[in-house]
Amino acid sequence: MAKKTRKKHPNIKKSEKYEITGNEIKKKNRFCPKCGSGVFMAEHKDRHSCGKCSYT
Ligand SMILES: [Zn+2]
Repeated sequence: MAKKTRKKHPNIKKSEKYEITGNEIKKKNRFCPKCGSGVFMAEHKDRHSCGKCSYT
């Protein structure tokens, strides 16, 4: 059995913002990666969703 190398983020481009903001994500709403920065995402218990495109 070969061990699978776990890829953290296949789409670095998309997750770029998350990586950078890190701890700050919890403080302020994160931006929607689909709509781009400027579009805040609604905060839920442990996830976020975009009010524009419903991206979670
Ligand atoms: Zn969006």
